Amino acid sequence: MNNLALANPPTQRTNNHIRKMNSIAPHKKAKALKKSSRRPAKELCSECGLCDTYYIHYVKEACAFLNQQIAELEAEAHGRSRNLENQDDLYFGVHQEMMAAKKKQPIAGAQWTGIVSTIACEMLEKGIVEGVVCVQNTKEDRFGPMPVIARTPEEVLAAKVNKPTLSPNLSVLEEIEKSGLKKLLVIGVGCQIQALRTVEKELGLEKLYVLGTPCVDNVTREGLQKFLETTSKSPETVVHYEFMQDYRVHFKHTDGSTETVPFFGLKTNQLKDVFAPSCMSCFDYVNSLADLVVGYMGAPFGWQWLVVRNETGREMLELVKEELDTQPVMSKGDRKQAVQQSIPAYDQGVTLPMWAAKMMGVVIEKIGPKGLEYARFSIDSHFTRNYLYVKRNYPEKLEAHVPAYAKAIVGQYKLPE
Ligand SMILES: Cc1cc2nc3c(=O)[nH]c(=O)nc-3n(C[C@H](O)[C@H](O)[C@H](O)COP(=O)(O)OP(=O)(O)OC[C@H]3O[C@@H](n4cnc5c(N)ncnc54)[C@H](O)[C@@H]3O)c2cc1C
Ligand code: SF4
Ligand code: SF4
Repeated sequence: MNNLALANPPTQRTNNHIRKMNSIAPHKKAKALKKSSRRPAKELCSECGLCDTYYIHYVKEACAFLNQQIAELEAEAHGRSRNLENQDDLYFGVHQEMMAAKKKQPIAGAQWTGIVSTIACEMLEKGIVEGVVCVQNTKEDRFGPMPVIARTPEEVLAAKVNKPTLSPNLSVLEEIEKSGLKKLLVIGVGCQIQALRTVEKELGLEKLYVLGTPCVDNVTREGLQKFLETTSKSPETVVHYEFMQDYRVHFKHTDGSTETVPFFGLKTNQLKDVFAPSCMSCFDYVNSLADLVVGYMGAPFGWQWLVVRNETGREMLELVKEELDTQPVMSKGDRKQAVQQSIPAYDQGVTLPMWAAKMMGVVIEKIGPKGLEYARFSIDSHFTRNYLYVKRNYPEKLEAHVPAYAKAIVGQYKLPE
């Protein structure tokens, strides 16, 4: 009998074994939901993917639609939550720095200039991370989301460009823990990142990097089809679209041509129910919990908008800084009146005839808000709309679900009943 065995007589060894069994993380005993099963957040589910894994064990705490906890998670991720007295914090979240940037050599086929894909590739190439959670498309459908853990730059590049539909990015989380990855980059939108931050400590990682994009007005795959058919002249050839800072939707088609449709000409009455209920109830437009956010809405037309939230975000940006042209953020105009006027117009589903919409688009592009003021215009318009939606459809959720910063933003406007 060896010394170890002497030190641990049989009964104690059995107890240790039982203790070890008991110390198995509780989520490992949980079971992912079947694809067809209703999710705990019911119709508000944004299909973030958490419930496709055993991390469903934490859903009551982690789901953005069951437990809004942005301020608490901001404090954990960034060392503090937003200062509501500071206008930039109030609107854009905790940050060290904001800037406008674009790649000197854009990646062809990326959503904008490909800053997101470039950062992810650099992190893999330099061995800073071993894998990147991102979303490619399925073979059958150019817009069908297929979350993957990319291990090579080629796999990251295969995920470039937005899949403008709800995407279960977190469905690969179980694979991460099983594959023993220790250093990971996750690319995702706000609702995915809130759930991720809540279960972060359970993933067995040494270091997690989070690269976020802003996100608003997302749709199910069926909703996307309806949007394309209602808005584009050639829905079957659209490969890419974006609501841009010039107040137009820009569609890119397979033959390389671009089609633009003014926001004010959108068939609001037909599109009212196209956005997913989750996205009509979402107040995390700016991805508050990512380390670094890459979008466009706070930047001049043609530029991307970067928000560095913490030191981890800065480390990620530094990796690609040499490859970017940058300029300070700017802000011009006054959004308040335009937002106030658009609230009842949207509410009543007003659609302008195309000639009037085009004219309005030209005028507002000349005199309308620009840079950070455009971003505030977009945040105000969406938060007021979403506040009304939650108030009318889920009044019992309103108080806890709407974060304090969103209440302060909505409070600046007069809303219809
Ligand atoms: C659904 C959606 C809505 C957005 N809305 C806005 C907005 O209103 N305002 C704004 O400023 N910016 C918005 N963005 C961000 C913006 O459109 C660009 O994605 C961002 O500027 C990065 O561009 P890029 O060229 O650097 O990205 P690329 O290098 O082309 O990389 C895009 C990355 O996005 C990831 N991705 C694609 N689809 C999804 C998805 N459905 N869910 C999660 N991750 C995804 C991919 O994994 C890929 O890594 C949105 C992004 C998405 C995905
Ligand atoms: S949003 Fe995510 S966490 Fe919430 S119910 Fe849906 S899949 Fe589950
Ligand atoms: S709008 Fe909000 S809820 Fe909808 S997919 Fe984007 S981050 Fe998630």
